[in-house]
This record gives sequence, C-alpha cells and structure tokens, in this order.
Amino acid sequence: MATSKTSSTYNRQSWEDAEFPILCQTCLGDNPYIRMTKEKYGKECKICARPFTVFRWCPGARMRFKKTEVCQTCARLKNVCQTCLLDLEYGLPIQVRDTALKIKDDIPKSDVNKEYYIQNMDHEIGKIDSTTPAGALGKASGSSEMLMKLARTTPYYKRNRPHICSFWVKGECRRGEECPYRHEKPTDPDDPLADQNIKDRYYGVNDPVAEKLMARASTMPKLDPPEDKTITTLYVGNLGDKLTEQDLRDHFYQFGEIRSVTILSKQQCAFIQYTSRPAAEAAVEHSFNKVILGGRRLNIKWGRAQANRGEDTAELKVRLEPVPGLPGALPPPPKDFFNLSNPGGDFPTPPFLPPLTKLIEMISVEMNEQTR
Ligand SMILES: [Zn+2]
Ligand SMILES: [Zn+2]
Ligand SMILES: [Zn+2]
Repeated sequence: MATSKTSSTYNRQSWEDAEFPILCQTCLGDNPYIRMTKEKYGKECKICARPFTVFRWCPGARMRFKKTEVCQTCARLKNVCQTCLLDLEYGLPIQVRDTALKIKDDIPKSDVNKEYYIQNMDHEIGKIDSTTPAGALGKASGSSEMLMKLARTTPYYKRNRPHICSFWVKGECRRGEECPYRHEKPTDPDDPLADQNIKDRYYGVNDPVAEKLMARASTMPKLDPPEDKTITTLYVGNLGDKLTEQDLRDHFYQFGEIRSVTILSKQQCAFIQYTSRPAAEAAVEHSFNKVILGGRRLNIKWGRAQANRGEDTAELKVRLEPVPGLPGALPPPPKDFFNLSNPGGDFPTPPFLPPLTKLIEMISVEMNEQTR
C-alpha cells in the first residue's frame, strides 16, 4: 500500500474521497444511531487496488465491527454494498443476479486493462446520477422470476454477528464472557460456504452461496390450481397497512380482467377475483412467492370454492373469510435464505437501498499526509 500511495500520487485525482459509504441495510445494522469513522485513502480497494476512503462502524450491540472493502466505483459498477458485495436492490450475490438478468461481466481481470477500464468507468459514473447502476448492469433491463423468488425484503442482522472464537472451538478460550468472539460450534468445515473469496464474489464466478441459492430457487414449491374450475379468486396476505386497492389492481390487472378486489384491512389481506380462470391461474403462477409490493412479499393462495359467483363483495367476504389460516397465522415465507448454514460468514444478505434515515456521526481519521 505504501508504494501505491506514493507512486500514484500524480494520479490522486482518480482516488475516491467519499463523504458517505454505499451500504446495504443489513451492513448498517438495526441501530438508528451509528457512529462511523472515516479514513481517507485508508486502504486499497480489494478489486481495483486503488486507495479509497474506508468507513468503519459497529452495526449494533454485540455485533462485530464492519468496514468498507471495495471502493465506490467498484461498488457502483455492480450496484452492490461496499462491505458485503450483495446487490443493493435484491440482496443477492452478484452471480445470482447476473445469471438471472443474463448480464455478462465485462470488467477486465488483468491489472493493466482493469486500471484503464476502471478509470473510464469512473468518468462515466461521474456523469450519471448516483442512484443509477453503471456498467453492464446499467444496460440490463427487466426483471426475473428467479430474482423475485429469492430477493430479500428485510435486513438480516444476524449476519453482523462476531465470528466464531477459534480458541473456544479448540477448548482453549479463557476469556469466557469477556470474549468478543462467538462461542458456538462452527458449521461443517467441508461446507463450501465457509470458503468465500471476495474477487470471485465480485466477478460472479464460483460463488458457493450463489450456487446454493440458485439450486434453492429451482426447488421452490409451486401452487397447484384447485380442481374446482369455478374458483377464480386469489387470497393475498401480508399486505401490511400501507398497500391500497389501487396498488393491488396495478399489479394484478396484468394477468386479466379483475371482477373484484376486497381488502380486509384488519387481517391485512385481500381477495382478488378474476373474471376468468386462465387469468387467475396466470396470476398465481406469476405471483406465488414472487410478488413484492411496497417492500413486502405477498402471500398468495387460491380462494375457496363458492356456490355461485356473486358480485356482492360483502357476501364474498363472508364466504371467503375462512380461507387458510387467517388471521396472522399464515405460514411465514421461508426465512433464512442466506444464512444457509454458515451464520458467521460475511456473505449473503439483504439490502434495499441504503436507508438514510439513520443518524450517522462521521469521525474523520486524520492522516498525516502532505497534501500539495
Ligand atoms: Zn475499486
Ligand atoms: Zn452489505
Ligand atoms: Zn473466545
């Protein structure tokens, strides 16, 4: 690092000097008040090797300190968190996202080409606004069913826990309660997830977590249509209290004509009746386990059979209320997508664009650098 700091001083213009890190919600932690230290040109980016501004903070009580690992140019090129390298929109590893969106990575891996490429990208990124991803991702469009199935909608703070105490594992830790590391049995050492490599993760290759998640997506359950062909109603749960009838119509109209939408706000669910069975089947097929509206993953089921197809919504409500497990007892969506079995690992998890609702106190770490 010392060499690059002196030898590339002439090139310092291209070094990153950020005011605020690009982070996912999980890495920020659940504490609304965060104290961060900021060290200008504190380390080399683990991908492009240029010095960048390192931020360091503790994401909550009994969590381990975290710091940014890659520079903002590299993070924005892939639209990922500077610390965990998970996609900021879906909370998924780059390999999963890029496979799903059919994005081909065009970042050169040889040092010279990479340097040139990154400098060009730096320039390009400077021209677009900071919420738009750059690089290949910026050109990709559309979404994918696999992404919708796997996307995380809530932060996964467990990922910020301390690493496992290696002394304790050997039965030699004498620090007891004082020990800042976790006294827990490690997961299977043969677990491929224990062996992560930040470059592979960034380039989206040989990422064991990604492979495991993609395998999971292909085995996720499907919802079979009921035998009774007169059923054209879907039950939609986990609405929360902010989603409106219009939000539901906006999403569900694409599958066919809707006869009625009945919202039971107390139970935070709704019934959507289509005018035709094919429309209802299409809606279930494209929505089960995949719809995320207003940051919530909706819970989709088939409605119950009805004697006649009345338009009377009040009657509909009475008939349909006993649909599976109301209220609140609906089976929760599969949790723990990312914990896969290595809770200590610093990989997978959630995001959603950095919530700037937090109060962050930035402490600059002064460096004795002779400027100019
Ligand atoms: Zn970088
Ligand atoms: Zn993160
Ligand atoms: Zn210990």
